[in-house]
Amino acid sequence: MRRFLIGFMLTFVPLCSVAETAALTGAWRPAVQGETAAAVRADDPSLRAFDPARLTAFDGGDNGSWVVLRPASGRWPAAPFVLEVATPGLQTFVLYRAGAAPERANMMQPTEGALPCHGCVAFAIAVAPADGDALSLHVDASGVIASATAFSLRPVAEYHRQDAMRLAIASACLATMLAMAVIALFFGLRLRDAAFAYYALFVLCYALIMILQSGYVVDPLGWTALAAAPRVWGRLATAISIVAAVLFLDRFAHLPRHAPRWRRVLLSYAGAVGALAALGIAPIESAHEVGRALINPLLIIGGPILLGTAIAAAWHGSRYAYFFLAGWTPLLIVTVIGSLQLYGIAAGWTWSDEAALGAGAFEALVLSLGLADRSLALRRDRDHARRLADIDSLTGLYNRRGWTDRVLALDEELRRDGASYSVLFLDLDRFKDLNDRLGHEAGDAALRTLATIMREELREQDIIGRFGGEEFVVALPGADRSHATRVAERIRARLQALATEDPADAMRTVSIGAATLDDGETTSALLKRADRAMYAAKAAGRNRVVHAH
Ligand code: GH3
Ligand code: MG
Ligand code: MG
Repeated sequence: MRRFLIGFMLTFVPLCSVAETAALTGAWRPAVQGETAAAVRADDPSLRAFDPARLTAFDGGDNGSWVVLRPASGRWPAAPFVLEVATPGLQTFVLYRAGAAPERANMMQPTEGALPCHGCVAFAIAVAPADGDALSLHVDASGVIASATAFSLRPVAEYHRQDAMRLAIASACLATMLAMAVIALFFGLRLRDAAFAYYALFVLCYALIMILQSGYVVDPLGWTALAAAPRVWGRLATAISIVAAVLFLDRFAHLPRHAPRWRRVLLSYAGAVGALAALGIAPIESAHEVGRALINPLLIIGGPILLGTAIAAAWHGSRYAYFFLAGWTPLLIVTVIGSLQLYGIAAGWTWSDEAALGAGAFEALVLSLGLADRSLALRRDRDHARRLADIDSLTGLYNRRGWTDRVLALDEELRRDGASYSVLFLDLDRFKDLNDRLGHEAGDAALRTLATIMREELREQDIIGRFGGEEFVVALPGADRSHATRVAERIRARLQALATEDPADAMRTVSIGAATLDDGETTSALLKRADRAMYAAKAAGRNRVVHAH
C-alpha cells in the first residue's frame, strides 16, 4: 500500500520537471501611475534583481509592477520562441518589446489569437529582440489575489510538448476526482450512508477549485460564467469543501467515539465557515464585506483544525482516521506550500499547481479505498445483524422465522430436483412441571440439552429450529418415512436415557411427530401434519414417535 502511494506521487515528478529552457535574469520594481514601459531603464537604481526561474511575488501595489527580463548569456536565443509565465493566478500581464504592439495576457480572459496555455500564460515571440534589448512586462495584481510567478523561455516545440503534458495531467487528475465522486455518490445512495455524499461533495468542490486555479475553466472547458468571477466561486467552493470535509471526517472517523472534544471545535468551526459563506452570497452589500474580510483567515486555520482532529481520532483508535490522514496530508502540504510561495518559500517549485491537482487525485483515490473498506464493514455488520435476528439466543438454533425462511428455500430447491423431505415436530413432556418444581433455569438447561442432542444426532444439512417454548422442529432433506422415524427414535431414546438416569429429575422425555412430504403438499400443511402426529404421541402416553399418515 505504502509503495503504491509513493509510486503514485512520484509519477508526477518527471512529468512536471522543468525541461529545456534558456536562462534569464530579471529585475522588477513597483510601477508609478501613468508610467510607460519606456520609463523603465536598465540602470534604474530602484530595480530589484530576482531569479525568473523561481517563483516571485511582485507586490507593486495599485499601479502594478514592472518586470524586466534579459538573457543570462547576453544573447537572445534564435526566434521563434515562447515566453511562458508559470502560475499567473488571476493577474494580468502586458508584454512590451521593441517593434511590436503591447500584448495583454490573463489566464481568465484569454486574448484572441494568443498561444493556448494551461495553467500559465504565454507570449509567442516571432522575432528575437536585439541583444541589448529587454522584454518588459507590466504585472497587474490589483483587485485580485497576488500570485508568485516564474518566467521561462522555451523553443516553440518544447513549449507545446510541455503544455500538452500539463493539460493531460490536469485532465487525468480531474477525471480521477470526478470518477471517485460519482462512485462515492452511488455507494452513498445504495448504502444510505451520508459519509459518502459528504466525501463526494468535498471532492467535487476541490475539483472546482482546481478547475478555477489552473485555468481549466477557460481552456478547455470554456465555462465563461464561472471564469467571470473566479474569486467568488473559488471562495464559495472552498467554504463548502471545508464544511463537507468536516462532516465527512465526523462520520468517517467516528469522531463522537474517538475524538469528542476535537469534534465540538471542528463542528463549531464548520458552522462559522458556513455562516460566513452565506453572508458572502447574501444580497446585502455590507454582509459581503464582513464575509469577505473574515473568510480568508478562517479558511487558513481550517487545515490545522482538521489535521489535529484526524490525528486525535487516529490516536484514539479510529482506523479510518488513518485513511483520512494518508489521503489528505499531501494535499494539505501542497496547499500550505502554495500559500507560502507568496513569501518566497519553496520558490523553485514552479509546478505547485500540478502538484495540487495530483494531490487532489491522490486524496480521492486513497479515501475511496477507505470508503470501500467502510462499505465492506457496513455490509459485514448488516449480515451479522441479520444472522442474529434469525437465531434463538437460548439454544443457538434457528428461531421460528429463521427456520421457516430456510425451510421454504429448501422446499423450493428440493421440488426443483424432484426430491422430498421430512419434518419432525418435538415437544418436551410435562415441561411445565419441571419449571414449576426446579425453576426456570433448570427448564432452560433442559432446553439446551435437547438442542445439543439434536445437533449431535442430525446431519449438517438438516435444519433445526426452536419453534417457541419447549417445541422444536427439524427438516430432514431427502429423508423418507423410515429415515425420519429412525432419526426421531434416536433422539427420543437419548432423552429417555437421560431422564431416567438423572436423580435430580431435571430432564424430560420428548414426544415427536414426524411427517414426510406428499406430492403437491405445502410446507405449512406438512408442518401441521407433523404437529398433529406429535399430539397423537402425547395422547398415546408421551415419550414416543408417531409418523403421520
Ligand atoms: P405436555 O407434556 O403436554 O407438553 O406438557 P407441558 O407442561 O410440556 O406443556 P405446556 O405447553 O402446558 O407447558 C409448556 C411450558 O413451557 C410452559 C412454560 O412455562 C414453559 N416455557 C416456555 N418457554 C420457556 C423457556 O424459554 N424457558 C423455560 N424454562 N420454560 C419455558
Ligand atoms: Mg410440552
Ligand atoms: Mg408445548
